[in-house]
Amino acid sequence: MVNNQYFQNGGIGRMYDYLIVGAGLFGAVFAQQATKSGKRCLVIDRRRHIGGNVYTEPVEGIQVHRYGAHIFHTSDEQVWKYMNQFARFNRYINSPIAVYQNQIYNLPFNMNTFYQLWGVRTPQEARQKIREQVAPWQNREPNNLEEQALCLVGEHVYVKLIKGYTEKQWGRDCRDLPPFIIRRLPLRFTYDNNYFSDHYQGIPEGGYTAMIEKMLAGCEVQLKTNYFDFVREHPNVAKKVVYTGSIDEYFGYRLGVLEYRGLRFETQTLPCDNYQGNAVVNYTQREIPYTRIIEHKHFEFGNQPNTVITHEYPCEWKRGMEPYYPVNNARNQTLYEQYQQLAQQEGRVIFGGRLGEYRYYDMDKTVRSALDTVQKELSHS
Ligand code: UDP
Repeated sequence: MVNNQYFQNGGIGRMYDYLIVGAGLFGAVFAQQATKSGKRCLVIDRRRHIGGNVYTEPVEGIQVHRYGAHIFHTSDEQVWKYMNQFARFNRYINSPIAVYQNQIYNLPFNMNTFYQLWGVRTPQEARQKIREQVAPWQNREPNNLEEQALCLVGEHVYVKLIKGYTEKQWGRDCRDLPPFIIRRLPLRFTYDNNYFSDHYQGIPEGGYTAMIEKMLAGCEVQLKTNYFDFVREHPNVAKKVVYTGSIDEYFGYRLGVLEYRGLRFETQTLPCDNYQGNAVVNYTQREIPYTRIIEHKHFEFGNQPNTVITHEYPCEWKRGMEPYYPVNNARNQTLYEQYQQLAQQEGRVIFGGRLGEYRYYDMDKTVRSALDTVQKELSHS
């Protein structure tokens, strides 16, 4: 059980080796490893729960991913072994489907999708079709997401499965988005609907919160605690700080505000046992305001009598809102690098995680980054 009341032990004046700001994945890995090597860690978080955005909570016996679907996948053997100490991962394989004008398409783009789009059955036919589709866009360096998509998959896939979804997701025209975002979508000439190409994949049985709780078992945790208020009152509580909040907020936004894309979740319980037959259904039409509907029970093969679904609406982000996706365009990247220079001058503070490093991190990359950071840190101390 997480100790939420470390005051009980007369703690405040007590010195910690690390004050870890943020009880999400980065903070939990750092805290776990540091605690294991004998360091005293205090983890604080401004939310009322641990886990950051991987937080799950049970509703109707179903683990609900409160901050969007999180599917763990990695090819990093060490990260996989590390995570398996704290949870048993189930056999969930992400195979989202897409709906466009009432037609169903499999994702990622694979032989099933090509059959649904063009009626082609063999990889040879599919390759030929893609060649025809991309021909007009070859031999050009893509300058934006639209050009990148057209030269990877051509017009049909772009219009039906990418354009509307991406423009909703990022709130911008595809011609105003950087090409790299779309490089995350693989193209496959087998009938394989596995969205990820990684060696390992799954969801922690019993939810992410229980997993994080195990990771934090040996250290002290204080929730509903704002870092800035806390350090004002307790400036010398720890020798070092591991800060996983937004780097620009740490510096009082003095160089400007880094931009994020926001998300709004509408979650409801429905009196049916199976609403959509799949955990993730993407809606790729621009006119439909949400990007996807998640049916949480399918992440864990649940057979409860009711179901819980979440509509995910991307939205404009403003300071003070929950930040989700960093918008890694040139302006923000430059600004982040300036903040990084300030960060390097803060000798006692380590910045990490999606917000601290302003990176569109998958979970395994966050764990990898935390393991590397803590290892480097412990080898010096
Ligand atoms: N994407 C798309 N159509 C889809 C799903 C994703 O065009 O049906 C694009 C979109 O640009 C999105 C990117 O792929 O921003 C990454 O999406 P993914 O679902 O892999 O990432 P997540 O939002 O889950 O981190």
